Amino acid sequence: MKRIYLDYAATTPTHPEVIKAMLPYFNDVFGNPSGIYSYGQESKQALAEARDMVAALIGADSEEAVFTSGGTEADNFAIKGMAFANENKGDHVITSSIEHHAVIETCKFLERKGFRITYLPVDEYGFVDPGDVKKAITNKTILISVMHANNEVGTIEPIAEIGKIAKEGGIYFHTDAVQTVGHLRLDVKELGVDLLSMSAHKLYGPKGIGALYIRKGIELVSFVHGGEQERKLRAGTENVPGIVGFGRAAELAQQGMREEAQRLTYLRDKLIKGILERIDNTHLNGHPLRRLPNNVNVSVDFVEGESMLLNLDLEGICASTGSACSSSSLEPSHVLLAMGLSHEQALTSLRLTLGKWTTQEEIEQVLDVLSRVVANLRGMSPFLKSNR
Ligand code: PLP
Repeated sequence: MKRIYLDYAATTPTHPEVIKAMLPYFNDVFGNPSGIYSYGQESKQALAEARDMVAALIGADSEEAVFTSGGTEADNFAIKGMAFANENKGDHVITSSIEHHAVIETCKFLERKGFRITYLPVDEYGFVDPGDVKKAITNKTILISVMHANNEVGTIEPIAEIGKIAKEGGIYFHTDAVQTVGHLRLDVKELGVDLLSMSAHKLYGPKGIGALYIRKGIELVSFVHGGEQERKLRAGTENVPGIVGFGRAAELAQQGMREEAQRLTYLRDKLIKGILERIDNTHLNGHPLRRLPNNVNVSVDFVEGESMLLNLDLEGICASTGSACSSSSLEPSHVLLAMGLSHEQALTSLRLTLGKWTTQEEIEQVLDVLSRVVANLRGMSPFLKSNR
């Protein structure tokens, strides 16, 4: 059975060109970039070129990009690094209630260390109101962290507006742009951010490599101590093949980005329309327009997201839901709850995220299969029967 992959927001396949670029750095050019012999210097040169490409993707200077092990580490580094570097100035951090766990859990850690965190609410589409950011600022606020686009519902946040507010208040501003870098044109200066998190495996690069943009002049506390790599900000021998792969992925992402976004938007809207028209009692989660070009998130009344996933998987379709399995029960997505969905509604969500290799035929096939799967599950649902 040919599988249909619609979980590109979780991870993307590594682009063949990226693999090709990485391969020599496993054996031919394997030197430690800290080595002064030519092998080491060749690796060092490759790191520099990759850094240029990653920085260029977000309109930054090369020395403003620090490589990390991925988006999670970049978020941890930004938030803890800024909090501990500025604890003599204040103890208050503002974030949103729909952030990725990498941000939410980092903020909870800071709370345990005595910091105060404001988790801003969102509206029914998942938007953070810049006015709420302004109101939440106190003379103890040291950092604002709001994601560029939400990974579950695709809502694109008003980052440039929040950036202006942060600047006016003299407060540092971090954004988790893991879902947008390489997919939407973005420029750190236009966004007005001081720190920005990226992850290679969301843009057809390898897993386990990411970067944090740190605006020139910003000082933050490092939490990986050891050697002097990454300007002493992130110790440890660099993941040279990973970084080279990230660089190549960044370069490829620049080529035809707008056309790809248009193609995906067309397929996304076709899929949304098809679901809402062909399957009754379905609702779109997130904003119809101000959303990631590849994100479809729907609630399908009376059907548990997990059941849909398992049934779609049997048909070779890979999808996702926002809920997380814990040992005894299903936890609904914190994002959907924050958007005002009930516990039950939040458990009926299905996320389908499209990518480079998604075709129109696949979308049509998914619509057929999903209609059938939902009809079968609803036919079996005691919940639905009791509601009729
Ligand atoms: N932030 C967002 C918005 C994400 O979607 C993800 C990955 O799902 C992460 C952070 C974590 O990135 P990584 O998997 O590279 O640690």
